[in-house]
Amino acid sequence: MREKEKTTVDRRAPLASLKGVGPVIAKALAKKGIWCVDDLFYFVPIRWLDRGTVRHISELEAGEDACVVASVDSYRSMFFRHARKKGFEVIVTDGTGFLSLKWFQWSKGYLQRICRKGAMLYVSGKVGNFGGILQIVHPEVAVLNEDETPGAARRIIPLYSQVDGVKQGFIRNIVSAALDLLGASPGGILPREREEGFGLMSFADAVRCVHVANGEDFDEKRGNDAVRRLILEEYLHFQMTLMSRKRKVRRERGIVFATDGPLYRRFMGNLGFELTGAQSRALAEIIADMGRATPMNRLLQGDVGSGKTVCAVASACVAIDNGFQAVFMAPTEILAEQHYLNVHRWFAALGVPVALLKGGMGRERRDVLEGIRTGATPIVIGTHAVIQADVKFHKLGLVVIDEQHRFGVEQRKRLKDKSRRPDVLSMTATPIPRTLSMVVYGDLDVSVIDEMPAGRRKVVTKVLSDDDRERAEGMMREELAAGRGVFVVYPLVEESENNPVRDAKSMAAELRHSVFPEYRVGLLHGRMSAKDKEDVMTRFREGEIDVLVCTTVIEVGIDVPRATMIVIENAERFGLSQLHQLRGRVGRGTEPSRCVLVASTKRTHLATKRLRIMEKTSDGFEIAEEDLKIRGVGDMLGVRQSGMPAFRIGDIVRDIDIMIEARKMAEELTAGLSDQEMAGFMRHIGDRFEDERDLCDIA
Ligand code: ADP
Ligand code: MG
Repeated sequence: MREKEKTTVDRRAPLASLKGVGPVIAKALAKKGIWCVDDLFYFVPIRWLDRGTVRHISELEAGEDACVVASVDSYRSMFFRHARKKGFEVIVTDGTGFLSLKWFQWSKGYLQRICRKGAMLYVSGKVGNFGGILQIVHPEVAVLNEDETPGAARRIIPLYSQVDGVKQGFIRNIVSAALDLLGASPGGILPREREEGFGLMSFADAVRCVHVANGEDFDEKRGNDAVRRLILEEYLHFQMTLMSRKRKVRRERGIVFATDGPLYRRFMGNLGFELTGAQSRALAEIIADMGRATPMNRLLQGDVGSGKTVCAVASACVAIDNGFQAVFMAPTEILAEQHYLNVHRWFAALGVPVALLKGGMGRERRDVLEGIRTGATPIVIGTHAVIQADVKFHKLGLVVIDEQHRFGVEQRKRLKDKSRRPDVLSMTATPIPRTLSMVVYGDLDVSVIDEMPAGRRKVVTKVLSDDDRERAEGMMREELAAGRGVFVVYPLVEESENNPVRDAKSMAAELRHSVFPEYRVGLLHGRMSAKDKEDVMTRFREGEIDVLVCTTVIEVGIDVPRATMIVIENAERFGLSQLHQLRGRVGRGTEPSRCVLVASTKRTHLATKRLRIMEKTSDGFEIAEEDLKIRGVGDMLGVRQSGMPAFRIGDIVRDIDIMIEARKMAEELTAGLSDQEMAGFMRHIGDRFEDERDLCDIA
């Protein structure tokens, strides 16, 4: 790509470099996230006022939404007796009549700007009638410039979201000033001929249009197109950044593993079941990665129980066959122990020693560390205890991180740093909607296991109300009478005064004494010691406990095939993906299983709607998509954790189609670039996503 001609204004220059922007205003704008000229361009108006739609006060009628342009006649603070509130009233007039504007809440800066006698205001809102006087309560107000008052030339006026201490007109003026400096040069990240090639409105035109810097040409549709063009610009910048980082990673040299060695073959031969098609595909992708010099950085996504662990263990065999060690890190002790038990069971038959490393192991710990250091232990399973400084590997080749999103970037990095560019396999059962994974994991390789092992049964799910509890208990009785295990999950461990939901401790007591005295009821929660937790889990697994009352400690990975029913109390308090995880605790054996979601009678209509999705589908991805729609991205992923970038105007869910377009463009653009050209291009556009460093490094 050709270096484009220099623009006359540096879009990344601080705002204070613009004429007329002093420190006070710069600070006020910074509060809105506007630091540089570029941010200003992206400060898209909340709406465009078409003066053609402005009405005379004399024509207004109560009940309608209207806009007027009027000047301040008088103002006063007052006590509204009927509302028992302090308020503020401004009377405006446009010469045809008077209109009262009222506020019950306001900021000082806001009213100070408005309350200048004669100030010309744009006012909009719902018109009311109060004792014969027309009024608007909490109107939207903007102070207009001289040239925007009636009779002036401007027809369309961009209205910006309120910046305290800065007038609307001022923003319009500095945007124009910045645009003048920009001159005829495009100013976007693409040279003009590329923009044309993609059939895009030029970046400069989009900015001018959005801020209505070219006067009468404007219409609403073009304005909206221009906004989309700016969103595209930002997404394209983001995608180019991802691609460039991916290239850098691709140039690194790691371990080249020889595949199809003896341990791998024996392990596969000894499995006792056939891999599903999806497992085979995922495993083939992993093993191909391991055979390449580029370090593997792959995410294995698969619903709970889809059989990710088997794939990970098979990859560990490849590492061990090559004389390397493998480490598995799991987020909780229960999970680490369970992985350990599984791997131990498989590997004992093959004569491969396995070590478990977790917190508080006392003496035993030294022996385990010694085995890891000398290489006598080829595979280590553990909690974050494995990242401690005194854990030294002889020759670590493969890092497996289970439920990777449960770990911080730093923790994941520390584990990887225990060797020189080991291959990294991350696993997650939290399904990221496909549409989103492309964005969040922009440059991570993803394998998906989207098929369950044969014989798995769909878990029949039912939403019940709190007052239908007896039905739930009846169903539990049926399972228990058949000698099966039942989970009962509560949102809280202990009773809490300010939280009126059921808690595990007191409900365990109630179930034990009043409801199921003839069965053995166990309790499991996060505040128990690791030893006690392990104990309870073992007893439940082996059938010595019938009903396991617990909190969400069982959310991930717990595998108890004899459990055939899960009851989740106060289900409306959980996210759908979380419910799906919990439900995945059952349906792991050959018996049909069920899940009962008990929701508070006081739940909202929306909550019911969400819970019904659980009855309809058992597809984790579909559930995640629905959850995403309802809860939004940040909420679902935890913005920082997932490294979700903060975009200035784009909304990743609403504008996902633009992101996909940006992705395609970025692929097309980078395809023709050498590494050097790519680096040059990136220097030219700059890295706006520096804070999101871990995007390419999610594992
Ligand atoms: P995940 O880690 O994805 O939640 P696991 O690997 O723990 O799932 O698998 C769940 C259970 O299913 C384990 O007991 C495992 O041995 C078994 N399993 C895995 N793959 C298969 C398969 N292809 N056929 C039958 N059982 C399988
Ligand atoms: Mg490799």
